Amino acid sequence: ATSSQRPHVALLPTPGIGHLIPMAELAKLLVARHGFSVTIITLAISASKAPATLLSSLPHSVSSLALAPVPLDDLPPDAHIETTMAAPATLLSSSPTPSPPSPSPPFPSTTSLPTPTLRPHGCRHSPLPPRPPRRPVPPTILRQPRRLRHRHLGTDASMSPASSASRPICSSPPTSSHSRSSSTSPSSTPPPAASTGTYPRRSAYRAASPSPDWTSSSRSRTGLTTPTGGCSTKRAGTGRRRAFSPTTFDAMEPEAANILQQTVPGRPPVYLVGPLTQSGKNEADEGAECLRWLDRQPKGSVLFVSFGSGGTLSMAQMAELALGLELSRQRFLWVVKSPSDGGDASEAYFTVQSKEDPFRFLPAGFVDRTREVGLLVPSWAPQAAVLNHAATGGFLSHCGWNLTLESVKAGVPMVAWPLFAEQRQNAVMLEEGARIALRLPRAEEGIVPREEVARVVKELMEGEEGKAVHQRVAELREASARRLEEGGAAYTALDAVANKWKATN
Ligand code: UDP
Repeated sequence: ATSSQRPHVALLPTPGIGHLIPMAELAKLLVARHGFSVTIITLAISASKAPATLLSSLPHSVSSLALAPVPLDDLPPDAHIETTMAAPATLLSSSPTPSPPSPSPPFPSTTSLPTPTLRPHGCRHSPLPPRPPRRPVPPTILRQPRRLRHRHLGTDASMSPASSASRPICSSPPTSSHSRSSSTSPSSTPPPAASTGTYPRRSAYRAASPSPDWTSSSRSRTGLTTPTGGCSTKRAGTGRRRAFSPTTFDAMEPEAANILQQTVPGRPPVYLVGPLTQSGKNEADEGAECLRWLDRQPKGSVLFVSFGSGGTLSMAQMAELALGLELSRQRFLWVVKSPSDGGDASEAYFTVQSKEDPFRFLPAGFVDRTREVGLLVPSWAPQAAVLNHAATGGFLSHCGWNLTLESVKAGVPMVAWPLFAEQRQNAVMLEEGARIALRLPRAEEGIVPREEVARVVKELMEGEEGKAVHQRVAELREASARRLEEGGAAYTALDAVANKWKATN
């Protein structure tokens, strides 16, 4: 089919490569399985090259529409990452309607729109020219504030690359969910009560609740929104289709999956499309030096250490981690980022690359002393490929949701070291619910001393607890592989959403 005959979908990921990656995966699947053409609209915050590199690797039928980086100078210096992530979309929501590229003939690979500007004291926009008339718009799958989606693009669905554990509806007592829900829901039907089982205590989630910005912006009355928006039931009952597609799956989060999949009047249908994330087979990664290094290591012997696209530690904590790895006497592959200056663990989130040579912050002599057992990689590694390498036997990470799913798909158990946003809730779920992670005691507060790092790392790689989480993650790996077989539950869910869109294209 030519692109003009193809159904067209626009995807709007939240800023940050960690959210672009699963959207890119989704785009590839929509093209390959359903013959869609896809436009990915990127809301940049920094001039990072990472999104452009990823986008240029996508199939021909996936084009991109890039907004120029947004200056965020007037956000308070201590603004949480969730506020920063939401700001470009908030600006866009009050700027002229961006014209989505025409679906025919082939899209330009990248189109730039003017940069919206921030005015002092908030995210309001400067006076606007009259808005052009609304164009017919394709169904969209978005993860941005409701106003933006409805006003500009007419969204049909949202996809969330986050755990269900981080959703209030799955982690709050049923009574409070009910009271939130019943106040505005078209129906007063209470959400289903949670079942019991091996799932973490709700109090554990509450204790691990994330930053205030996350909490306030993520808590919708339906309990289904994401940090920067998501599904709304506002127009439920108007006949408009809506869907919510978390990238999780039932074996990983059984109770949450059960709650989300209940039919509740006024709530959009939920399709569990997980584990949807990069496959680990990326030709561009093939030549990576760290993969060659892994080829030379014994099977299952290497601890992979990475805090995702932008997680950073303080200088003191970075030193304790280094010395703890050394003390553990385990092999390791560490993606090192420069430490955060002001204690902001998400400092490198939008830039991905460290500003300075990150190795210069390591303790004196560390590199030489660990040369035989450790490999250090600055800023970025082909993570999915590393996790899928036979030499990788454990993963110390910040519990970002995408890399967690990648770890499960590769059958690699984790040491949980949450840093920001919903990662603390993920850590609780991974330790107490899915039981695929060991957790550093209160890693998120204060400095974790080297002895603790060494103890937990050693336990994961060699100890009895390590054996248990290895076994458990192997089970989940199998479950995730079954979901990703042809006819498996993940593709069935994705196909259901795609078929709805086709019917409306
Ligand atoms: N990633 C990668 N190499 C790195 C760091 C991250 O390929 O060095 C990828 C990782 O595989 C995952 C995504 O970036 O797909 C990170 O997303 P996640 O939600 O796990 O964490 P975030 O970076 O958004 O905090």
